Amino acid sequence: MATGNINVSVENIFPLIKKFLYSDHEIFLRELISNATDATLKLKHLTSIGEAKVTYGNPLIEVKIDKDNKKLHIIDQGIGMTAEEVEKYINEVAFSGAEEFLEKYKDSAKDSGIIGHFGLGFYSAFMVASKVEIITKSYKDEPAAHWICDGSPTYSLDKHEKTERGTEVILHIGEEDVEFLEESRIRELLVKYNKFMPVPIKFGTKTETLPKPEDAKEEDPAPTQEVDNIINNPNPAWTKQPADLKEEDYKSFYRELYPMQFEEPLFNIHLNVDYPFNLTGILYFPKLGQDMNLQKDRIQLYQNQVFVTDNVEGIVPEFLTMLRGVIDSPDIPLNVSRSYLQADGNVKKISSYITRKVADKLNSMFKNNREDFEQKWNDIKIVIEYGMLSEEKFFEKADKFALYPTVDQTFLTFEELQDKIKDSQTDKDDKLVILYASNKDEQHAYIQAAKDKEYEVLLLDSPIVSHLIQKLETSKENVTFARVDADHVDNLIKKDEETISKLSDEEKESLKTDLEKVIPKEKYTVQLEAMDSGASPFMITQPEFMRRMKEMQQTGGGGGMFGMGNMPEMYNLIVNTNHELIGQIANTKTDKKKERLIKQSLDLARLSQNLLKGEELTAFISRSFEMIK
Ligand code: ADP
Repeated sequence: MATGNINVSVENIFPLIKKFLYSDHEIFLRELISNATDATLKLKHLTSIGEAKVTYGNPLIEVKIDKDNKKLHIIDQGIGMTAEEVEKYINEVAFSGAEEFLEKYKDSAKDSGIIGHFGLGFYSAFMVASKVEIITKSYKDEPAAHWICDGSPTYSLDKHEKTERGTEVILHIGEEDVEFLEESRIRELLVKYNKFMPVPIKFGTKTETLPKPEDAKEEDPAPTQEVDNIINNPNPAWTKQPADLKEEDYKSFYRELYPMQFEEPLFNIHLNVDYPFNLTGILYFPKLGQDMNLQKDRIQLYQNQVFVTDNVEGIVPEFLTMLRGVIDSPDIPLNVSRSYLQADGNVKKISSYITRKVADKLNSMFKNNREDFEQKWNDIKIVIEYGMLSEEKFFEKADKFALYPTVDQTFLTFEELQDKIKDSQTDKDDKLVILYASNKDEQHAYIQAAKDKEYEVLLLDSPIVSHLIQKLETSKENVTFARVDADHVDNLIKKDEETISKLSDEEKESLKTDLEKVIPKEKYTVQLEAMDSGASPFMITQPEFMRRMKEMQQTGGGGGMFGMGNMPEMYNLIVNTNHELIGQIANTKTDKKKERLIKQSLDLARLSQNLLKGEELTAFISRSFEMIK
């Protein structure tokens, strides 16, 4: 038997490993299974090129718990190692690898945003084990080797009688880590990290029911047999070619990824590129609706089918973190901080590739089946609108397929909308005025008024719409948006001012004085307008700009920077001097009655804008009952 000293400069590497990676103890299993997988795939390669003269067969990786002896076994049927190779790969390569890893880790540990911890490899076994054994038989015709190390730099290396090819790693689990002797804990880890690894992983056995033989009697129980319990799917959908997959395959893979998710995805995007970087994956659009606060950790990142993390921040553009699915790329550096990650050239390319693919997919859906795209719009618009706001490149592409639904559910692209209203909806400065509502019920009266004038009214109801409008106004020439109850609207109304005022200038003057006596100045600017006699007598509008800034503040982002925390509530009260009621008010003799009429009218206008609340609303209602008595 040989003994030796592992040649390292950092003598106490094990305490270091434990200390630095304390919270991540569980990754040891992923690392050991990755090694077992590599060893198996290496054998596959060597047999395929005739280098290894053995049959590859159907190798498994087995994980076994020996609770009584506090041991955990990881057994593979891969290439194995000769004693010489153990010296070289374990004592030298693995150890220096671990050292190197720790060097790197110490620096980046200051930055809390570390993802994955690849590279520590074999020595991560010492995070949970007080002693580690390797029993390994190479595919070459040499005796098996038995290596034992208790965490000190001393090890022993001996011959072993093992005859089957492959490697068995035995972990003597330490006192503090007995959780890793629990079946449920190991199962949890296998499902988390190894669910899609390319070599079948066996964990225990299960009972399988067989079909009854032809001559079996009714009451005979169906025969059963014990079979290997394979916990992974070695050929997940994203590793296949899109041409080999049907719609149903994508759906069933979605169910595999999210077993607790009962709603089907709307559609998917298959990512597949090998130059200038390697990336495969499938992204799914779930039904998103209006909810911005969806769980953002639904996209899983893999490297060669090994799970790394479900936090893809920095790799996938922010607006796409609302999607679900899988990304697999060996080209994403993992032992680095997030800030480093964001500056990495490959990662930038990956991020813009994903953005482009998503935009292209949406564009082809729009082109190939517009009706279907329109139907999906309300469930996906939040991603698209958010993307248009945050990624200029995406904006340019999405501008062609982003839809603007009208209150009557006609879906228009921006260009179509422009075309439609270019002759009818311009203001005094010849700017296109795009009218929109954010709530069909609340703004019903205003929508109706605009429709009566044959204006087109959009229904823009997503929570970030004020930001998007701001963006569109700056990137498009000569357009302005106005909510149906906004003050811009009267710019449009004023345009057809052919309507002659029925009141003389003096009458108007005195009416204005009367109105201002009753209407609080600090809240309302009174505007007399000669409108159609059928239009509402009193109408409250809000300055578009102020309202929008307030909304933007509420939904975060760009609007907050103006520091308009205490913007006053200001409204315009538009009084239609051509309405019969206004004439009546003007001609009312007693001041008291006049005041009552104005107050009641103002309250009605406020009511229709949902501004009448609490005590004032109660007072209004009892006053109204009095009046009809
Ligand atoms: P890495 O896998 O990153 O090279 P490790 O420390 O995990 O680093 O392993 C070091 C080396 O030990 C591997 O490169 C491989 O040659 C060898 N090795 C580890 N585990 C096995 C195994 N199960 N079968 C065969 N060789 C192995």
